[in-house]
Amino acid sequence: MRKTRLTVPEILNQLEAFYGKQEACWPSDPYLFLLWWYCGYPASDASCSKGWKELTGRIGTDPDAILAAHPTKLTAALKPGGMLPELRAERMKEVAARIKNEFDGDLLASLAGPITKVRKVLKSFPSIADPGADRILLFAGIQPVAAVPSNCTGVLERIQKGHEEKNYHASYREAQRMIDSEVPATFDARIRAYLLLKRHGEELCKRTKPKCEICPVRAVCAFVK
Ligand code: SF4
Repeated sequence: MRKTRLTVPEILNQLEAFYGKQEACWPSDPYLFLLWWYCGYPASDASCSKGWKELTGRIGTDPDAILAAHPTKLTAALKPGGMLPELRAERMKEVAARIKNEFDGDLLASLAGPITKVRKVLKSFPSIADPGADRILLFAGIQPVAAVPSNCTGVLERIQKGHEEKNYHASYREAQRMIDSEVPATFDARIRAYLLLKRHGEELCKRTKPKCEICPVRAVCAFVK
């Protein structure tokens, strides 16, 4: 008899069979990730990667190089990444100064100890809330948390329950709970889940107008039923 509900690992297998293996396009080191994140606005893989290419080509990523760069030059390098390049350049300088003065030039080495303390440090940087902190913890190899792509929180809920929580935080927590209970707590497994859900949420299972007619999990998706 045909199964009517897939487990999270089965959903991920089907997504991987459809999209192929996924690779992160951002740096895993926490300091470099912060720079990459401020390279684009609105932040997306495309906008951040565009700004990142200019930043690395024209300025560099070393805190000293960013602090030494003239604000106009840094702003010009960040412009291809989208809106608010002046503000992003200011943020980048603030972060570079903190890495140098507060973290002795090595943010990753400072992210040790109790996870609540580490999370607090990460959330002290501009534009980093819980989803951003989870993403850094996971991809930097600090803790294999059940991170969820912040723009694709409703994918698993739609497939398994047919609807997603209206409240963003509730939706994020529910997606985390689903990953936490079914995906092994290893870096590889949780990174794979994150990347596949991100790809699916951005490409087909969009919040508005999901492309269900060409979706690989349509036959078992509760949203469609
Ligand atoms: S069938 Fe539609 S709602 Fe369900 S996972 Fe696919 S795109 Fe999303």
